[in-house]
Amino acid sequence: MLPAARSQAAARLATSLRTRGLASLAGYEEYGKHLFKGDVAEGYLSKQGLSAATLDDPAWTEKHADGVAAAVLDWALDNGASSYAHWFQPMAAGGVRHGLTGQVQNMMMKFDGKGKFVEDFKGKNLVKGETDGSSFPNGGLRATHTAGGYLAVDTSSPIFLRGDVVFIPSAFVSYYGAALDEKTPVLRSNEALSIHGTRLLGLLGLKTEGIVANIGLEQEIFLVPRDEYYRRPDLQITGRTVIGKDAPRGQEMCDHYMAPLSSSTPALACMQEIQEECHKIGIPLKTRHREVAPNQFEFAPLFGINTTQIDQNVMVMQIIEEVAARHGLAALLQEKPFNNVNGSGKHNNWSLGTKEGTFLLEPDDINAATGNDTAFAVIMAAIVAAVDEHGDLMRMAISSPGNDFRLGACEAPPAITSTYLGDDMTAYMEAFKNGSKGAYKPSKKTLDLGTSSIMPFQVPAEDRNRTSPFPYGGARFEFRAVGSAQNVSMVNTVLNTITASKFKEFADKIEAGASPNDVAAEALEKHWKVIFNGDNYCEENQDMLTKSGVWRIDSGVEAIHRLSAPENKELFESMNVMTGAECDAREVILHDHYTGTVEMEALTLIDMINQHIVPAVKEAGVGPLADLEASVGRLKDAVAAIHAAENSYEKAQLARVLRLETMIDIRETCDAAEEVVPANIWTLATYKELLFLDSHSTDLIE
Ligand code: ADP
Ligand code: MG
Repeated sequence: MLPAARSQAAARLATSLRTRGLASLAGYEEYGKHLFKGDVAEGYLSKQGLSAATLDDPAWTEKHADGVAAAVLDWALDNGASSYAHWFQPMAAGGVRHGLTGQVQNMMMKFDGKGKFVEDFKGKNLVKGETDGSSFPNGGLRATHTAGGYLAVDTSSPIFLRGDVVFIPSAFVSYYGAALDEKTPVLRSNEALSIHGTRLLGLLGLKTEGIVANIGLEQEIFLVPRDEYYRRPDLQITGRTVIGKDAPRGQEMCDHYMAPLSSSTPALACMQEIQEECHKIGIPLKTRHREVAPNQFEFAPLFGINTTQIDQNVMVMQIIEEVAARHGLAALLQEKPFNNVNGSGKHNNWSLGTKEGTFLLEPDDINAATGNDTAFAVIMAAIVAAVDEHGDLMRMAISSPGNDFRLGACEAPPAITSTYLGDDMTAYMEAFKNGSKGAYKPSKKTLDLGTSSIMPFQVPAEDRNRTSPFPYGGARFEFRAVGSAQNVSMVNTVLNTITASKFKEFADKIEAGASPNDVAAEALEKHWKVIFNGDNYCEENQDMLTKSGVWRIDSGVEAIHRLSAPENKELFESMNVMTGAECDAREVILHDHYTGTVEMEALTLIDMINQHIVPAVKEAGVGPLADLEASVGRLKDAVAAIHAAENSYEKAQLARVLRLETMIDIRETCDAAEEVVPANIWTLATYKELLFLDSHSTDLIE
């Protein structure tokens, strides 16, 4: 480490070692104080003759907008907030835009003309905003001469405040109502799920007011020393290291996962402060721990309604980045910041429930509520069929640029969309498929450790399968292949839409006279191949799955192209989730987002070679100088070829080759230079300096 960086690091450590006393519960009293919901909202709404329940009916935006606005203003001023913002999620912001959202902060005050501020926040200010934002990615859905954009409050996700701003979760659409954001399609997919799920449950014996999707999003991140981060142009600009020789220590000893969050590094205090900030705005961030790679960490919340959870996850990512800076750390949300150690994911745990609280994926619960022993089996059959038929869309939804390095036969297993049910459940579903009419009764297994100090205890019959992209885990499916930097709106839009379409298909057939069990058995027969309980990392298994016709799309760019496939446009249209034009636009935006990411990475690599590596190699008099100089030419040519390509799809295809072939090749030359140049001449932060907070701290406490 450079001397200046060293003293900065010492100062950073000194200020951030203020780990909260372990016995203090004071922080939890603040929970939800800055979320306009429940008791907090009740206190202010009651003064307006309303109640917290007012917010449960979306029509409050028409019937009670002024009353709610007055209550929000009152609450805001009590908590030091004096501005508001319609808070929206423009398409394809992952990986580049801090916080992944858009907002304009307006004062809730006006000048009274006599030199004073007076309150000014009415219902009309709250429920709708207008923005001229043709500068957002819109894929042709809006041009500069048709630039009107509208923001409408999303009543499914509560208003919150942070600092001096009240944030109003909003949908963002064009003048013609086309979705320009991530949120609108999720909301529409919730509608489809509820409509067709309600129909199917009715036919299975349960009347319900509607179906909701619950999700819980585990968030993985890296925390690295901020002064070292400033010595990595690639991390600053692209969020990942485009070069870097492995450190002598990686994760080969399996010694990081769940290791203590040491108070001798800033990480623990940072994570505590992240939780405190989140708790204040009602984000139930419950779990924190170290992950598999060095300097990798994870947070997980309690699960809840998908729109709220997505909004909260977006906020969690923003808070992580901001709080990390206060502790002398830089948070890396990107999926693969470092070569040869684990990347970061965001497990999207997904389950379905009725509005009254019955869980559809919990066998006992749903069977009891419907009074039907095989209701659970019918629902599972629909989901299995959906995954098999629409695995291409699930793969599309996780095609973020960073996920290139976690999926698709690059370092990780190919992206084959199978599902794990576990042996017990699979055996049950097989019997059901063959006509058995009993209920699923998961067996329990007893573990006896052979010591009288520990009593024998029960464990679920099902093991866990960490190699499956979409395992059933008792009461929920866990979409494990999702990328850490993603806004998971599209992921959930797809899960809901494909499930809704199968619920519809089943309900249609049952209404036409078929028995539910026959419909489900027929679907299982057709889609059985997608159930796979073995090791997805094993190549023979991958070949077997590929040959059997389970969806496999190795390239993220090709997966994105599935959005405009006629059958997929038809699916989204038939479920009223996206129009064909919205699908086309999204494909263009996602391809452009991919190409933009790769171009930034290539240009950063050119600068790093020219400004850091070549000078160091020259000064040291060792290293592959000629190869390095030639590499710059190759990179420039590749970028020029992308610029010359005809359309977004072609550009993205070329960008993929540049990134996954040319740049990986050139990385080897750069890493070979790093290996031989003396440390005092090498000007970029090394993997050792970036990946080990712990190993730096001991020599800093002097
Ligand atoms: P693991 O992935 O190790 O099994 P947990 O059991 O702690 O971890 O769960 C991880 C996430 O899954 C949490 O955010 C949790 O709230 C969420 N989760 C648990 N049950 C459900 C469910 N029925 N529906 C949706 N999310 C759930
Ligand atoms: Mg998990």
